[in-house]
Amino acid sequence: MDQIITRFPPSPSGYLHIGGARTALFNWLYARGNSGKFIFRIEDTDFERSTQASVDAIIEALEWLGIDWDEGPYFQSQRLGLYQEYVQKLIDNGHAYYCNCSKERLDIVRKEATSQGKNPKYDGKCRNLGLKKSDDTAVRIAAPLTGVTVVDDLVKGSVVFQNLELDDFIIQRTNRTPTYNFAVVVDDIAMNVNTIIRGDDHLSNTPKQIILYRAFGSPLPKFGHVPMVLGPDKTRLSKRHGAMSVTAYRDMGYLADALINYLVRLGWSHGDQEFFTRKDLIQKFNLENIGKSAGIFNPEKLTALNAEHIKASQSKDIAKKLIPFLKENGVISNEGLYIEKVIETLKPRSKTLKDMSNQALFYYTEDVTYDIEAAKKFLDSSSLTAIDLLTQEIENRECSSEKDVEDAFKSVVDKTGLKLSKIAQPIRVALTGKTASPGIFEIIDILGKEKVICRLKNAISFIKQK
Ligand code: GLU
Repeated sequence: MDQIITRFPPSPSGYLHIGGARTALFNWLYARGNSGKFIFRIEDTDFERSTQASVDAIIEALEWLGIDWDEGPYFQSQRLGLYQEYVQKLIDNGHAYYCNCSKERLDIVRKEATSQGKNPKYDGKCRNLGLKKSDDTAVRIAAPLTGVTVVDDLVKGSVVFQNLELDDFIIQRTNRTPTYNFAVVVDDIAMNVNTIIRGDDHLSNTPKQIILYRAFGSPLPKFGHVPMVLGPDKTRLSKRHGAMSVTAYRDMGYLADALINYLVRLGWSHGDQEFFTRKDLIQKFNLENIGKSAGIFNPEKLTALNAEHIKASQSKDIAKKLIPFLKENGVISNEGLYIEKVIETLKPRSKTLKDMSNQALFYYTEDVTYDIEAAKKFLDSSSLTAIDLLTQEIENRECSSEKDVEDAFKSVVDKTGLKLSKIAQPIRVALTGKTASPGIFEIIDILGKEKVICRLKNAISFIKQK
């Protein structure tokens, strides 16, 4: 079998959104899992809507997602000569013709057809006139007038289009720019693309593209049209359903692996499996299991999956990604043992990196700020003895291991007759400012003797001043 060649060809008129990222991902996974090739192409022939900022944003998003390409980015705007050559091929083989119908005439034809309840299509006036190229000519395909064009789709099955419904669509405008359907087909032929996975909003373009492949005498690629991603209210995903751009998820503290896992599940399944590593996906992704119904974007599910990916990640990998979030919170931290230990305690309890960085603050702060409710409930005279005793116990020990810390607590339990839980909560508030935190022994171990004593003493003064 020929090498599998897929592509991702965004139009650069905005950021990379969730739906586009899923399309890129499906093509990328299919290529990566089959020793194929993944091509990246920028479809920027719509000069008015295309911007460099969008190109940059799309590249940034793909790079963050870890979707790498083997060829490209190609820019259609730099390939106009090639499209011209291919236009000429179709003129030469009789599959295309020059048309000089004015916009006014086309409007009239369209209106007449509509008023008669007919399909408002081009009436083929110039098809047999043998016009020559001139300043006012566009180029049209001579499409089949009868019969059907069948899209044999990997996802939708066989979809039949009546050729009568299609028309001699323009392939090159009067200003010599190619139309979308034409440029796509020329590029896909020239780049030997043989597998096209894209949103089903493109299904109606496919018969036109098939007509072009046939006119060129080129073999058809495999097509798979994936149902669009919808919002929870079953309407097409849009801004009101939450963030749309991929990089917004990065900025909110989602891991690329989690987003990839979530995106792929919005249209593909592998039994009941929900959690996939990137490697897993590359191995398991296939075209057979792309779903026929629309994926519903559910931000809560994405967040839950993100938490699982955080849990499953190596702390040293998280460290690199967490540092910018800490910085946003005013914390300067380097990679190293300290941050890794901090992360180790927060991994099981963080939904996002942002959430983790908020939870990590107490490890870095000089002054613990107490939650008002927590302080009211736990930092009062009834906890003074326990805090005081623990301070002494810690002062008298090395406190170089969690076990040592545990012994310090045991000693306070013995001396006061209080339950460990009764002692732990005031200490937790004293050290972190909050009633919920990672395990108290590990916190003390990470903070270190000096900081812990300082915080405990501050809590004692706080209680005494109350
Ligand atoms: N440029 C098109 C788009 O962004 C993609 C075309 C295709 O996949 O064939 O929708």
